[in-house]
Amino acid sequence: MAPKHQAPRGTRDLLPADTALWRWAEDAARGVLGRYGFGELRTPLFEDYELFARTSGESSDVVQKEMYRFKDLGDRDLALRPEFTAGVLRAYLEQGLGGRSRVHRLWSTGPVFRYGRPQKGRYRQFHQLNCELIGSPAPGADAEMITLFVDLYEAWGFSDLTVLVNSVGQPASRRAYGERLREWLAPVHDRLSADSKARLTTNPLRVLDTKDTGDHALFAELGNMPRLLDVLDADDRAHWDAVLAGLEAAGVKYEIDHGLVRGLDYYTRTAFEVHDRSLGAQSALGGGGRYDGLVEMLGGPPTPGVGFAIGLDRALLVIEERGFKAPAGDSVCIVAMDGTRAAATALARELRREFAVECDVESRGFGAQMKAAGKSGARFLVIMGEEEWQRGEVALKDSKSGTQETLAPSALAEALRVKTRATGETA
Ligand code: AMP
Repeated sequence: MAPKHQAPRGTRDLLPADTALWRWAEDAARGVLGRYGFGELRTPLFEDYELFARTSGESSDVVQKEMYRFKDLGDRDLALRPEFTAGVLRAYLEQGLGGRSRVHRLWSTGPVFRYGRPQKGRYRQFHQLNCELIGSPAPGADAEMITLFVDLYEAWGFSDLTVLVNSVGQPASRRAYGERLREWLAPVHDRLSADSKARLTTNPLRVLDTKDTGDHALFAELGNMPRLLDVLDADDRAHWDAVLAGLEAAGVKYEIDHGLVRGLDYYTRTAFEVHDRSLGAQSALGGGGRYDGLVEMLGGPPTPGVGFAIGLDRALLVIEERGFKAPAGDSVCIVAMDGTRAAATALARELRREFAVECDVESRGFGAQMKAAGKSGARFLVIMGEEEWQRGEVALKDSKSGTQETLAPSALAEALRVKTRATGETA
């Protein structure tokens, strides 16, 4: 019988086998973020619609086509967050963080929502790991953020990433560049996709973001695409050179991508992304950039910032496809007999304060429990035979070393501690 309800289109259930990998990835990321001095910020899943409309830019796809916008019962105009930065900066201003210290390093994670067309690596509810460094205009801040960005992927086992970088300048240089793009595209204007034609009037840079293969063929036909880097003013140019020098100093491999403009309007100067070809059309694993005008746009004082978002679903797809399995901790399986079942329940509760413990709850026979223990993958087996129990003993079998010993139940926890510590793993 088909179930009556299905998860909404574009959403997924993550089962325990999946979440084990997610937990591992999140824990690895938390470690890196802590070592870089980042603190975790949790903001609401929804905010005023206007916050996203104002910051993302009215012409962006996110605002025009992809927002989960709704009215609540109090007739408020709200939206599920399509990205983190706007909410993080709203919280930064509302909580007065700027007055407490000059530079803030904040990270967040959780679901984000975009009403796109679902396909492999593209969901309507997906998850991002988001980092912001707020308060520093220095190129060193951009370089540090790009280095952190790469180090997060490296912590997940991505060893050969090349980060793509570009400078999108300031609004004035972008306008000048937009003009150059329009002139460049004029000869093929009529053959561009409808989306690109519309973008050419509202926000010409976004034409470079097109996914339309016909558009890309036209770009190739024209050749000699104008470059944003050629229209930067002296300050932007100096910033850009210093960012690249910072990356070189840190030993981060990068490639300059002149077509990289990012989807949202608020970026200034540095923009960056990483891709993984194994993902096909949805190859972007993550990206970010500097957004020096954004806090002012939200009514705050001039405050520079640089940040990025990593798409966790896509990163985990790649990790999974490479056959990676989350390392399992050492667990314990207790096997009891009729006369020791009650004692096994108490022992399991005791050991579960520290270790992962399985213990039969169905009063199955000894043979069935042994079989289940074999299947469970538990490293340790605690066998509670009736006679041994009477003598004040249990047997502890370690499948890793292949040893078996007899010891007092009260010595069990310490023996497990020593063995798990010796192999550097925790239960
Ligand atoms: P963006 O803010 O659009 O650059 O998104 C940052 C990252 O989030 C992207 O590089 C993707 O890895 C991921 N991402 C964006 N949209 C989706 C989506 N619909 N489904 C899954 N991941 C996404």
